[in-house]
Amino acid sequence: MSRQEFKISYSRVNTYLFCPYKYKLVYLDNFHIPVNSDITFGHIIHKTLERFHVGGEQSSDALFKCYDNAWKNDGFKDSQQIFEYYRRGNQMLENYYTYFCEAKSEVLYVEKSFDTNIGKYKFVGIIDRIDKHLDGTYEVIDYKTHVQIWEQGRVDKDLQLTFYAYACKNILGFNPDKISIYFLSNNKKMYTKRTQDDINNAINTAIDIAGKIVAENFDHDLSKCFVCDFRFKCKYSQYREVAAKTV
Ligand code: SF4
Repeated sequence: MSRQEFKISYSRVNTYLFCPYKYKLVYLDNFHIPVNSDITFGHIIHKTLERFHVGGEQSSDALFKCYDNAWKNDGFKDSQQIFEYYRRGNQMLENYYTYFCEAKSEVLYVEKSFDTNIGKYKFVGIIDRIDKHLDGTYEVIDYKTHVQIWEQGRVDKDLQLTFYAYACKNILGFNPDKISIYFLSNNKKMYTKRTQDDINNAINTAIDIAGKIVAENFDHDLSKCFVCDFRFKCKYSQYREVAAKTV
């Protein structure tokens, strides 16, 4: 594997941590994770908010126009499910618009990409949103569209947020005073912080995993098969018997 082409990212680290063999299936063998309603809905909402914030006009009508334009039916089971998700998105965006109007912060960036080096490797990512508050402090915001709200402990340990904190400090040139996850389905924001030790540990983890990927260390982890997208196809999975072809 060429180190020049290879770029480590949160998605790659997360997939490798889930199961190194899944990483191989997704990133080297080009197996696609099946599209489902939650994946499509997440894309629709992220695209809606990106277009809304970069689009100029920031009225409620403009927001819902962005929503309609971003909508697609891929991955939904039937028209009833489409209707239910569409209605959920409507409610979510009504709440979001109220939050947006009341917020006393400036939206500095949406879908802000970064591209840098860690150790010998390229490191890339995209941050959903960065705000600057009236008191001069900065807030990094990650949107989640699923219904479940996380425990505070999970928010405090989330690797993606730690990578975002690294990117803000080391690439964009400011300290993220607040780091938040906005659970849009519940209209609830949860806050966290990251220390320099947290950031150092996360970056070391990314470098370590990048090294294992380059060395083609793709062991399988059978403890994750029951929730793996490839459990019916993977040659290591106990569920594979029901599939016609294994990979
Ligand atoms: S089915 Fe199991 S071993 Fe195969 S990729 Fe998924 S988690 Fe890994």
